[in-house]
Amino acid sequence: VESDVLADYWRAPRPVAVAGRGVWITDAAGRRYLDAAGSVHVVSVGHGVREIAEAITRQAERLAFASGRYFVSEAQLDLAELIGGLAPEPLNHCYFASGGSEAIELALQMAYYWQTLQGKPEKTKFLGQFRSYHGGTIATVSLGGHQTHRDRLAPYLLPFPHVCATPAEHASANSFAEQLNRLILEHGSDTVCAFVAEPVSGTTSGAIVPPPGWWEAVRAVCDAHDVLFIADEVVTGFGRTGRSFGIQHWNATPDIIVGSKSISSGYAPLAVVVVHDHLAEAFHGANRRLPLRLTYAGNPLACATGLAVQQYILRYRLVERCQEMGEYLRALLADLSAEVSVMGLPRGLGLLIGIPIWRDVKSRAPFPRAAQIQERIVMSGLRHGLILVGGTGSDESEDGDHLLLSPPFVISKSECRSLVERLHSTFEHALGEELSN
Ligand code: PLP
Repeated sequence: VESDVLADYWRAPRPVAVAGRGVWITDAAGRRYLDAAGSVHVVSVGHGVREIAEAITRQAERLAFASGRYFVSEAQLDLAELIGGLAPEPLNHCYFASGGSEAIELALQMAYYWQTLQGKPEKTKFLGQFRSYHGGTIATVSLGGHQTHRDRLAPYLLPFPHVCATPAEHASANSFAEQLNRLILEHGSDTVCAFVAEPVSGTTSGAIVPPPGWWEAVRAVCDAHDVLFIADEVVTGFGRTGRSFGIQHWNATPDIIVGSKSISSGYAPLAVVVVHDHLAEAFHGANRRLPLRLTYAGNPLACATGLAVQQYILRYRLVERCQEMGEYLRALLADLSAEVSVMGLPRGLGLLIGIPIWRDVKSRAPFPRAAQIQERIVMSGLRHGLILVGGTGSDESEDGDHLLLSPPFVISKSECRSLVERLHSTFEHALGEELSN
């Protein structure tokens, strides 16, 4: 739905961002914005951190680029070792890219390459989930279940089947696993390469946390059919949920994890594909280079940035802080939901917090899509100096709205209170009549 609210926004000149410090961004007119979205789930260590800027300068002075065709860099090796230590065992091998879409695409290519090495070149299909997001390229939109994006690219989409349910709060792990199993059998397990999912949903469905046993059941179904399990941790990876990787809240080991965003906190474009030993061994055993071609893969400057960010996260125990501040912020938001009639109870893990918005909270009746509720709230947020991300739809229909909060890991308690105060004014001014009813 191309909404009027958004059309107005795109027509208006956007503010020019000129500086950032911690959770704050300042524009050219001197207005300050509290970055409650971590600038779309990217900013982990905060804006304007001198140590990161210094690490970038040091690397740029030493060596900004050496092609991955001939070299690896020290920064790349050190970052790969650090990530291997954070990821679940035995995912120890890292391949770098410049963004989430590119890395998901690499993961798909690696998964298919692995199947061919197993002598199963007919395993070509990738399974995704309805209402998921995996990126903006043709392959990643094909994998994703975001209807608006899919409609826009309909003539180009690849025929990837979808499991038609997202981890709804009321769904059981077994019913989801059964659905996945049925889908694989319907398509023929000898044609299915991999299943891709976000351990905790991002913007498209707003931080829905699957119940215990969910990913364990998915893992078992994948194992039964020689289907690889790829965890898209572009949003959840590198600490945001209160563990280094979101999947670590469950007892399931994916074959491949894809991470980006918090890896480099926005100081450089960077993403990583972390693979299980059994895949890496097959790739090395094949005695050929992985058939992946990206000029900037392993860019030394980007890797040095990621290394500095990850060392900073470890030094200041920011993963633990996500857990602690997430609980604090969720409690404040739960109190606010008692005062704001359209606000449902917050959900999520760590500093990835979803807020459902209902026309009637008790019956969970959504606003119609045409009311453009999340768009109004996001726009009102900007006017109140609050950067928010919103999403739309539910499993049942295109109606319904939610917000997704993901502030930098360094947010303080007083900044959490300031965020909630601004959110309160944002809600009051956004919906005027709807809210006062
Ligand atoms: N996967 C998920 C879960 C995402 O949220 C995103 C981006 O928001 C991507 C993949 C694509 O990442 P990028 O925009 O860096 O290409």
